[in-house]
Parts: sequence; structure tokens; C-alpha cells
Amino acid sequence: MTQHSELSTPIPYGRQHITEVDIQAVVETLQSDFLTQGPKVAEFEQAFAQYVGAKYAVAVSNGTAALHLCAMALGVNEGSCVITTPITFVASANCVRYCGGTVEFCDIDPATALIDLDKLRQMVESKPKGYYSGVIPVDFAGNPVNLEELRKLADEHGLWIIEDACHAPGGYFTDSRGERQLCGNGRYADLAIFSFHPVKHIATGEGGMVTTNDEELYKKLLLYRTHGITRDPALLEENHGGWYMEMQALGYNYRMPDMLCALGISQLSRADEGLARRKEIAQVYDAAFEGFASIAVLGTSPGALDEKGGTGHAYHLYVIQVQDRKGLYDFLREHNIFAQVHYIPAHTMPYYRSLGYRKGDFPEAEHYYSQCLSLPMYPTLTADEQRFVIEKVKEFVANDN
Ligand SMILES: *Cc1c(COP(=O)(O)O)cnc(C)c1O
Repeated sequence: MTQHSELSTPIPYGRQHITEVDIQAVVETLQSDFLTQGPKVAEFEQAFAQYVGAKYAVAVSNGTAALHLCAMALGVNEGSCVITTPITFVASANCVRYCGGTVEFCDIDPATALIDLDKLRQMVESKPKGYYSGVIPVDFAGNPVNLEELRKLADEHGLWIIEDACHAPGGYFTDSRGERQLCGNGRYADLAIFSFHPVKHIATGEGGMVTTNDEELYKKLLLYRTHGITRDPALLEENHGGWYMEMQALGYNYRMPDMLCALGISQLSRADEGLARRKEIAQVYDAAFEGFASIAVLGTSPGALDEKGGTGHAYHLYVIQVQDRKGLYDFLREHNIFAQVHYIPAHTMPYYRSLGYRKGDFPEAEHYYSQCLSLPMYPTLTADEQRFVIEKVKEFVANDN
């Protein structure tokens, strides 16, 4: 028996890491003149844009608001039909509904649980040009979608791309010219979005970011983020004096406050460290489960594996697949390990069923869902804790056979 055969504190599947330096950064902002829109917003945006290699970044109140603003900026309306994956957090699909558009799902590639680009091509080619307006790929688990390939299809059919990169800050794939393309860098997608929810790589409580290389879209996002109101003299239709502002579009209050941006800046400065630790944890899991026929590890997208043995997988999640997933989930819980399931396929949610989707529509996604389990994955997971998790997973699988 190891000393960790029983744990006093539960191990979650993901958790934030807040340091004294983070706390100090927030306290300093609280003592400053700005609680909401101050200097930390632009500072965070610039640092984040640089981190992912994009030209522009717009901080918003959360990842869902980021998706909504993107859909608005791209002009999604009642006539729009947009494709996304069923294996994602529902917000990836909901943003289209917020704007009155129609959501269609495309099944996943079972090897990676990412949207299946071959099926997507078939889907798009089966309809006349103009039928679909855009696609929202998700870098699920931190596995980057091959956006170079997706861009080709998008260009042939006039589609825009919103990359949901919530799982993948710091992730990358290698394109056909051998160049690393960071998730959210705006090279292939029109817009990309991130979330700073506590389980994500960079945690600010609530918070989100849109990145893009497109100046026009950037300007729209800035306007829509704050009620559609501008005070920029260059944009005003009239000008009555110093107080004057104009509401030029129906926007929202989707601002991210200064104190959270201060936390974001501090968190971002440790992002590389956290990512490196995630990769280490993944390697330990990989080695532990290798050769276990009854434990399948979700594959890394081919473009994320580089020649030097590195990986562009950002490991938001570490997903295994087992026959008796519920059994394993319950067994781990009994031992204070809170593994989680990502995701219940979006099309099987009562809301999407009310729009006509049914169980059975996307068999790969549903099969994946029946077996998937996300094991604890976060930078502060200790080696002992990870060993305990691995031991319990193996114990269950051995007894289950
Ligand atoms: C977390 C997440 C979102 C939503 O982000 P919030 O900040 O929680 O609104 C959207 N898409 C994916 C894939 C996510 O993981």
C-alpha cells in the first residue's frame, strides 16, 4: 500500500493555479483608479495577441461572449447555416442560435474526437455554394485542428472560420511548409476565441478573448463589446462636444474588467510553464497506459506531432476511453478522484433535440461519448497524485476484465 492509497483531499480533473504574485496583481488594480476599463485591458490584449501570434486581441467577459461577438461580427442571422462539432461545450453551437442562425453538426474523427474534415467536405459539397456560411472547429482537448486544410475547403465554398481555441492556448500544428501555426494566430481562421474559466490554462474566474488578423472584424468586435457605442471622433457621424458618443449598432456589455485583466497578465506570464507541465503529465499517462488493451488513449492530431518529438497538443484534457466508463467514473469517485466526461454530444441535449436532432445522428460522437473519461490534468497535479490516479485506473480495469 502506498501512502496515497487513501486521499484526504479530492483530485479534480482540472483546477486553477493562483500564486501570491497573481493575488498582488489584482490587489494593485483594486487600489488603482480603474475597476473596469483601465490600462490592464489593453496590456492583457497585447500580451495575449503576442502569445498566440495574432495581430489583434479583444478581451471580453467570457468565452461564450467571445463566440457571440464573433458570430455577430461575421453577420450570422436567420439565413445563416453554420457547422460545428457535436463534441464540444454547447457554447460553440449556441453562439449561432443567439444570432438566429441554424446549427448543423458534423461527426468527429474517432481517432482524435476532432471534427472529421473528410465528412465536413462531403457535407459542404453536397449543398449548393452559399448554403453554409461558416464553420466553427474546436481544438478539442488541446488538440489543434488542421486549419490549413480546413481553410482550403472554406475558400472553395466561401465559408468563414471561427476557431474555438478554448482548450488550446499555446497549442500548434505544423503546416505543409513545415511552419508551426499557433492556435488562434489568425493565419487560417478569421477569428479565434479563448476562455479564462478556472479549468482552462489561463484562469481569471470569468474572462475571454477573441484574436484575429482582420482589422475590420477587430473594429466590429470593439464596438459590439461595449453596447455598440463609440466615442472615437474618427468614427462619429456627428459631434456635439466632449460628452458626445454614438450608439451605432446593437451591442452588449461584454467587457472584461481591469482587475481580471491584471490577473490574466500575471497568469499569462506563467503559461509556458503550465503548458510544459501539462505535457509532462501527458507523457506519464501515455507511458502508464501503453500496452493496456482495455485503455485507449485519445490520439493526437497528426499535424501536432513534430519531428523533434515535441507536440503541439496543449493538453487541456487527457482523455482515455474504456468499455465500462460509468463503472470507472464511479470507482474513481469512491477514491476521491473526480474525473469528468467531455462532452455529452451537443445534438443530444434536449434543446438541440427540440430543433430536430436525434440520438443516432452522429454515431462516432455518440460512441466516443459512451467511453470517454478525462483524467486529472493540471499543472499543480503532483507526481504522487498522478501515480495514485494511474494505480486506481489500472486497478479498476484489471478487476473489470
Ligand atoms: C470553456 C469553453 C467555452 C466557453 O467559455 P466560457 O468562458 O465558460 O463562457 C466555449 N467553448 C469551449 C470548447 C470551452 O471549453
